Order: sequence, then C-alpha cells, then structure tokens
Amino acid sequence: MIISGKELSAKLKADMAAEVAAFPAKYGRVPHLVVILVGDDPASVSYVTGKAKASAEVGIRNTTIRQPADISEAELLALIAELNADPEVDGILVQLPLPGHIDQARVIAAIDRGKDVDGFHPLNVAALWQKQPCTLPCTPKGIIAMLKAAGVEIAGREAVVVGRSNIVGLPVAKLLLDENATVTVAHSRTRDLAEVTRRAEILVVAIGKPKFITADMVAEGAVVVDVGVNRDPATGKLCGDVDFAAVEPKASVITPVPGGVGPMTICCLLENTIECFLRRRE
Ligand code: NAP
Repeated sequence: MIISGKELSAKLKADMAAEVAAFPAKYGRVPHLVVILVGDDPASVSYVTGKAKASAEVGIRNTTIRQPADISEAELLALIAELNADPEVDGILVQLPLPGHIDQARVIAAIDRGKDVDGFHPLNVAALWQKQPCTLPCTPKGIIAMLKAAGVEIAGREAVVVGRSNIVGLPVAKLLLDENATVTVAHSRTRDLAEVTRRAEILVVAIGKPKFITADMVAEGAVVVDVGVNRDPATGKLCGDVDFAAVEPKASVITPVPGGVGPMTICCLLENTIECFLRRRE
C-alpha cells in the first residue's frame, strides 16, 4: 500500500477550507501567516511558494516577506519583534536555513511562542518532551497523521528512526514514543545500520541521502516512511532517502517521494496556523 500524502492532504485542506470559511463571521477575519524568506536559495523559494499556494487553497491569508541574504541579524530580529507585536499576525515562519552570519537558534527563540507555527521555539520543544500542550513540528506531526490515516498500528511495535535532527528525527521519535512504539534512533555513527533498520516494523528515514535505504535494509512487511527530499544524481529527478522501486515490494506500507511526507508537512503548517489563530482568541 502506498500512502499518498498528496491525496490525504487534499482531503484535510478541504476540511480546513470549510472551517476557515466560517471564521470571518465568527471572529471578524481569517488566520494570517507571515513567512520570512532571507536570500534566494531556489529550494527555499520553492518551499515558500508552496506554502503561499497552500494557504490560498484553504483561505488563510499569507504574507511572504523577502529579505536580502545580507540582512543583519539585528534587522531580522527587529522584523520578528514587529510581527510578534502585530495583533493581525497569527503565525510567523522563518524559512530555514538562514545565511551563516545569522544565529538560527537566536532567531527561532525570538519568535513569540504563540505564533511559532513551525513548533521549533525552545519552549514548544520543551513542552513536546514534557507531553505538555504545544505546537507540534509539522513534518513529525504529518508523519503520525499519515500512519494513523493508513490504519497503521503503532502501539507496541518496533520503530526505528534514521536521523536525529531537531526538526525531524528527534521529534518524530518522541511522537512515536508517545504513541507507545518501542523506538530506536539511528544516526551516522550507528554500528551496522542495516541490522538495526531490519528490526523495524515501522521505519522512518530522514537523512538526506538519495536512495540510501536499500531492500536488504528493510524487513519483509515493514511500514516505511521516507522523509528525504533529494535529487537523484543519475536522473536529476526528486527522490527520497529510500530506494522506492526496490523497497516497495517488501514493504506493507510505504510513502512515496514526491507526494508523500512533503504535502503533509505543508498541511500541518496550515493546521498549526489555525491552531495559533484559535488559541489567541481563547
Ligand atoms: P539533517 O539535519 O541533515 O540530519 C540528517 C540526519 O541523518 C543526522 O542525524 C545524521 O546523523 C543522519 N545521517 C546522515 N548520514 C547518515 C548515514 N549515512 N547513516 C545514518 N544516519 C545518517 O537533515 P534533516 O533536516 O532531518 O532532513 C533529512 C531529510 O529530510 C533531507 O533530505 C530533507 O530535505 C528532508 N526533509 C523533508 C521534509 C518534508 O517535509 N518532506 C521536511 C524536513 C526535511 P548525525 O546526527 O550523526 O550527523
């Protein structure tokens, strides 16, 4: 079974559009998401464009603020302070990565926690690890939503997450743990990675290496979630971290790239924007 993140996100976006359509009558306006893009990295430009398009689809107001790559950290922090104070802004997203002269952690921490639609603010991260209410990071949230929508049983199962980044690996491991999976987190220093990944009943891969996970690394019947977004060096086409053609026959459930985790990430960003908007009205 191939889980289409594209189809699932289309359904979720239609539900959100219906919800948002009722907001002007109820609250006087729709949610407003502000995305800050520093520089013109093509991948970042394409992500930001995707976010604006998806916002429009559900009726969320989206403002993209473009800043030059040489903006100073102080100027960026001043912009964030302005948006934090603006009552017409519900969500603030700073597209990552930022240029090297800017301290990414300082910028993320400067965003009002209540407007942190990415769920990267240290207080949101702390709340996640303490099982307190918080804005969940979009990609991990989307992965759990996909597994649930596909009817995958998580509780009690062996889950292996390959990758331990703050934005994907670590939070998805925590969410799987919260769903009562037995979780192993593997990384670049893991000894005999194939032996570890073969233990997985649920395998989540977020490493950023094209087609790195081959069929011999996957157990028969495993559920495979491919987070990677890479260019296949041979064809130049988008591909995941999993060799889809080789692994798909072995997997019971698998997510494709493109059209898998990516669209669900954007969908969860919209969900988070609505959540921040509603929380500000409580
Ligand atoms: P990252 O910050 O670069 O982290 C990569 C992780 O993979 C690290 O923990 C690293 O281990 C591990 N790793 C690297 N090489 C490995 C190897 N040979 N064996 C085992 N582990 C290895 O990446 P990220 O931000 O988590 O992103 C991962 C991928 O997901 C990228 O392709 C990115 O574009 C994609 N992504 C997709 C979405 C989406 O919505 N679809 C969202 C976010 C990211 P160490 O910690 O030991 O270095």
